[in-house]
Amino acid sequence: MLSQPLALPEQLALAEPATIATALQWACLLLAPTSDSAQLDAEVLLLHCIKKRRAFLYTWPEKPLTPEQVKSFEALVQKRHKGLPVAHIVGEREFWSLPFMVNDTTLIPRPDTEILVETALSLPLSTYAKVLDLGTGTGAIALALASERESWEITAVDKVDDAVALAIANRENLKLTQVNILQSDWFSAVKARDFDLIVSNPPYIDETDEHLHQGDVRFEPQSALTAAEEGFADLYYIAKTARDYLKPNGYILLEHGFEQAVKLRAKLVELGYENVATVRDFGSNDRCTLGKWAE
Ligand code: GLN
Repeated sequence: MLSQPLALPEQLALAEPATIATALQWACLLLAPTSDSAQLDAEVLLLHCIKKRRAFLYTWPEKPLTPEQVKSFEALVQKRHKGLPVAHIVGEREFWSLPFMVNDTTLIPRPDTEILVETALSLPLSTYAKVLDLGTGTGAIALALASERESWEITAVDKVDDAVALAIANRENLKLTQVNILQSDWFSAVKARDFDLIVSNPPYIDETDEHLHQGDVRFEPQSALTAAEEGFADLYYIAKTARDYLKPNGYILLEHGFEQAVKLRAKLVELGYENVATVRDFGSNDRCTLGKWAE
């Protein structure tokens, strides 16, 4: 005889009384079909509701949740179930171990971009290096660099006013007030021949890329994601124009798609950069390429 069909997880409310462990288990079941990071999503959403740090979840799995916590957790999990990025639901994403406020006006900082920060920090630059971050978005790259190099003179720019406002809010929140943040269409508001290092994580996804219809990118602004010429237009523009904005022996360092390294290296060499090299991210994908402007 056939048994009663099981209720689908999405039809279940979180059973009360709920504990940390039962709440996480419920959310994982609900999110697993639509998210490939269900466990992490559930943990970040629960921590947001109970206002605790990660270790708390493992130390106190039996701890009961209050009815208010259950209600708010259910609401957040339902939003995630509809596809909304976790970072947008909680309004925050960690990058370089720093908390960044996020919203839908910019790209959500990615762990992949930490390799760009690490590479920038490894360059032989002076204690008082002048650094430019183009298309800063939340300010993640510029502020992460500032958190490591107090005496660097860092300028971060974005074309979008809302992004500039968000980066400034992050700067204030992180108390990294030495970073100069301004509105600029790429180089339009900065001085020529002024920088020892120019970094950028520009839009580099091809406009027809399938991956634009999946996951978090559906909720991020197109202007931060896609570029013409199979995603190369902004990378090439920045590489070409940066030559006028770098000091002699300054570096350019660009994030790009994992299949764009060969062409981008060729372009940098063609433009006259030296010591051109690509660095892989922690997933072993080609992720950023640098060159030295020796003139
Ligand atoms: N790395 C991001 C992604 O593939 C895109 C970031 C970008 O276009 N700069 O989702």
